Amino acid sequence: MSTNDSEKLSLTDIYDLAFNVFIKNGCNKNNASALAKILHDAERDGSLSHGLFRIPGYIASLKSGKVIGNAEPTIDNSLPAIISINGNFGFTPYALEKGLPILASVAEKLGIAIMKITNTFHFAALWPETEFLAERGLVAIACTAAKPMVAPSGGKKAFFGTNPISFAWPRTAKPPLVFDMATSRLAMGDVQIAARDGHQLPEGTGLGPDGNASNDPKEVIKGVLLPFGGYKGSAISLMVELLSAGLTGDNFSYEAGETDNNDGGPPKGGELIIAINPKLVAGKNWEKHSSDFLKKLENLNGVRLPGQRRHHNRLDGGLRKVNKELLNRIRCLQ
Ligand code: NDP
Repeated sequence: MSTNDSEKLSLTDIYDLAFNVFIKNGCNKNNASALAKILHDAERDGSLSHGLFRIPGYIASLKSGKVIGNAEPTIDNSLPAIISINGNFGFTPYALEKGLPILASVAEKLGIAIMKITNTFHFAALWPETEFLAERGLVAIACTAAKPMVAPSGGKKAFFGTNPISFAWPRTAKPPLVFDMATSRLAMGDVQIAARDGHQLPEGTGLGPDGNASNDPKEVIKGVLLPFGGYKGSAISLMVELLSAGLTGDNFSYEAGETDNNDGGPPKGGELIIAINPKLVAGKNWEKHSSDFLKKLENLNGVRLPGQRRHHNRLDGGLRKVNKELLNRIRCLQ
């Protein structure tokens, strides 16, 4: 079997496989279904670095005891515009499932609200949370730190995480505009997939263990990633650290690095999500005004909106190709 062999699975089979693996490895139903939904949605949309590919890492963290499979997140919404969720050492998706509807209803009423999530383990894409809010008419920003994998601009040693940030803008007649990106030149998941599939990395992805630029994913995994866009991306990554750790009180990436057990799963950290009601901030004309802008942008030659690829993939309800080696590994975990 070559590392590129694949098998076709329906989206229902993908959900069921993920759900069963999580149940078999110590998750209760609420956590297993929140995780399986996140992985199903990632495979449906073609977010492959954060779909089934993540299962071995999730399971490693359940097996090592770092993450609690039946954790019940607790919610404190005693402050008007700040919702605090304590994940109680579970994976983030179930905490999000419980908290996002509350965040949406508070932001709708007050115009703006913030949700901080602490004591959780985030191993997924961030677009599911921002898209959820934008589908309810809200502007949304979400970010989380990780553990050291990225050298800040000018440095050669890992200090930042890959620190993703996602933004979503609601549109009534169309799916929301959403971007979701690591602040490293490539997400670590994509580097690992390139290593598995024998592909070279684009210029500027990272440095090898000797501190020299390298396009070999195996060398970069042993070395460090670089931020996208030099010092500018490095500044965005710095902002993500401060918002998701400084403002939540949970780990900065370096703190997660010092305490993580390196079991191959996600480190403990916080997530910050901001939701804004454009009706209350911009007034009645917000929708037409922003839609006209986005239409003009979309019509520029050679330009596509972020999120379009995912939304296009979503329209296809058919079978999805899954790497065979990965599937075998996952089936062995059942
Ligand atoms: P990509 O570089 O693939 O894409 C980043 C964004 O740019 C997407 O919104 C994408 O939209 C958009 N985009 C891509 N190509 C174009 C184009 N030609 N024109 C316009 N827009 C474009 O994502 P990353 O590799 O940086 O990140 C992948 C995922 O990794 C993210 O979902 C992120 O949340 C996740 N991640 C999670 C971490 C965690 O700790 N939980 C850590 C790091 C990353 P589209 O999807 O439609 O292509």
